[in-house]
Amino acid sequence: MTRTPDEPALLTPGPLTTRIETRRAMLRDWGSRDRAFIALTAELRRRLLAVAHGEASHVAVPLQGSGTFIVEAAIATLVPQAGKLLVLANGAYGERMIAIANRLGRAVEALRWPEDQPVEPEQVERALAADPAITHVALVHCETTSGLLNPFEAVAAIVAAQGRALILDAMSSFGALPIDLATTPAAAVLASSNKCLEGVPGIGFALVERQAIAAAKGNSPSVSLDLHDQWRGFEGNGQWRFTPPVQVAAALVEALRLLEAEGGPAARLRRYQDNFDTLAAGMRNLGFRLFLDPAVQAPIIATFHPLDDPRFAFDRFYEALAARGFLIYPGKLTRADSFRIGCIGALDRDDFQALLVVIEDALSEMRR
Ligand SMILES: *Cc1c(COP(=O)(O)O)cnc(C)c1O
Repeated sequence: MTRTPDEPALLTPGPLTTRIETRRAMLRDWGSRDRAFIALTAELRRRLLAVAHGEASHVAVPLQGSGTFIVEAAIATLVPQAGKLLVLANGAYGERMIAIANRLGRAVEALRWPEDQPVEPEQVERALAADPAITHVALVHCETTSGLLNPFEAVAAIVAAQGRALILDAMSSFGALPIDLATTPAAAVLASSNKCLEGVPGIGFALVERQAIAAAKGNSPSVSLDLHDQWRGFEGNGQWRFTPPVQVAAALVEALRLLEAEGGPAARLRRYQDNFDTLAAGMRNLGFRLFLDPAVQAPIIATFHPLDDPRFAFDRFYEALAARGFLIYPGKLTRADSFRIGCIGALDRDDFQALLVVIEDALSEMRR
């Protein structure tokens, strides 16, 4: 597809490029308390659970807002006032969970690793054994800061063996990387409409273990960010407690149908891996180096070192690509000078080949 500055390809971790069918699903009005929207909400909740095989054990609780809203609501609702949260952090999203827990007045402990290093399960095991007061552990599945994949299954097994509850921020992995709640213990998995599910922004959701959500009454100090009450609302009359973003919900249901038609998360992961591999190989040929070791790289977002050439200036590079219809992700890691290109969204190998042509063009322009 040809890209233009008015209809750019978004090479970002979300909001990202969506399919026309998904955007078209927004072209109608819905009565939020009408039977048709209640049925749509039921389909939404059912499809979200099915993506992670959580039907037998978990419930889906969507919430209005961006991803951070669902993270804040989940910590507020699931970690009781007398609880204690251990956050495993190796990037901005781990740090954000620490900030949220602090703001909520919850006891919080942090274990930290550098941005290019994965969480180490053995250290988590030691920290849990040393501190029986810890009730919950929070992990970021794919740390979107760098694109690093953390060892979810290994951490989940340790947290469960120690009798604690795991909260997984799967914002940038849900819908593509494998998450199987039938085989991997997690009290809650959190994600949003606008990343690997390829919906539009506006809804976050939690898949929460039945007993955990049932036991969480009264924990949240917030009325709107209370997942227990939100869940009770859905179970009671099938409706959202407060005005739902109806068009966003309709788009997300359409996006979930398209995910199923594509072949589910496994097929989506293959497409993203192909995007990533195409990009990584092409960038290597142009002289760019990846920031992460391939062993910990998720095919979600690629972080590159700037080109080792004094004529390379990121701002000019960004503008040159934007003028040709490709928006990459401005913003750096905290530690290293770098830039990022997202590999997710309704894009395939052809788009990345077109991007590489444009990048080559932009580079020769800079060198002139
Ligand atoms: C995108 C993202 C979030 C939420 O960010 P919002 O801007 O609030 O949508 C949280 N955690 C991770 C890992 C993310 O990638």
